[in-house]
Amino acid sequence: MRLIILVGVVAAFGGAVLVQAAPTSGEVNVYSYRQPFLIKPMFDAFTRETGIEVNVVFAKEGLVERLKREGRNSPADLIFTVDIGRLQDAEDAGVTQPVHTDVLAANIPDQYRDPDGNWFGLTTRARIIVVSKDRVAEGEIGRYEDLTKPAWKGRICTRSGKHVYNVALIASVMANNGDDQAAAWIQGVKDNLARKPQGNDRAQVKAIKEGVCDVAIINHYYIGNMLSDEEQAEWANSVVIVFPNQGDRGTHVNISGMALTQAAPNRENAVRLMEFLSSDLAQRMYAEQNFEYPVRPGTHWSGILESFGEFKVDQLPLAEVAQRRPAAVRLVDQVDFDG
Ligand code: FE
Repeated sequence: MRLIILVGVVAAFGGAVLVQAAPTSGEVNVYSYRQPFLIKPMFDAFTRETGIEVNVVFAKEGLVERLKREGRNSPADLIFTVDIGRLQDAEDAGVTQPVHTDVLAANIPDQYRDPDGNWFGLTTRARIIVVSKDRVAEGEIGRYEDLTKPAWKGRICTRSGKHVYNVALIASVMANNGDDQAAAWIQGVKDNLARKPQGNDRAQVKAIKEGVCDVAIINHYYIGNMLSDEEQAEWANSVVIVFPNQGDRGTHVNISGMALTQAAPNRENAVRLMEFLSSDLAQRMYAEQNFEYPVRPGTHWSGILESFGEFKVDQLPLAEVAQRRPAAVRLVDQVDFDG
């Protein structure tokens, strides 16, 4: 007699239909806002080490909404995204669940993970100041607070104040300097803008190259990205990078990170992948893909990061930055920063 067991789990995944052999078949499913080329190399390394397959659905938007819609039937185990704001949004949407393991606690410093275990940083990105090589002297600017000085009138470029990168920076200024000083700061930066906030971080560097402005705020890895691009290399070569606030609190950094989903049908495999991604090997690989910094202390830095040199990082926990994000957005509105 032949016994045929049909496992009736059919999940729509990534536009394709997957037939899962059994709930504990060796796989883990990832929803990612991060581009596949950034994460695939580590996932392949994980599969080689464990035999567990990693299936990735990539989308530029809508993944949190999709998790909400799918609810407990979601095939996804993990969500990957950049920025504390988006990680916090996932937690607030109720699509994550807490994880606590010794490995994650040992590899990921406190300031880069949710105290409740709902999200974990994997790489960090510094929000730096870049200045024109030709038109700004060395040491002329050293702090975020300097951006409000009269010397910079009409000389600053930035993307929208409401972009998640700037919201987190503003939230960090609020946490460090208090609400009143932060309000005066954001108004002062607006008063010194060369043009209305527009474009992405790279566009600000291009604007410096073209003489539109002399100073900009960008994420550090775009310098590495631009240097690797034939057309954009000359933009990057027209600026000098400054890690702000080295004499006091340190430079504001944000994270890219991950969260375990509420549904997580392959929870055990997912936690194993999370731990793997916090390991030395994966941390080195992940950071190198996009010129980001590994969160794990002691992990080797790639060539270009080494060339930037060590710098002091603001130790403010990102959970506190996340808390202040709504107030930071209100401040941006109050001063009509983008207007
Ligand atoms: Fe970015």
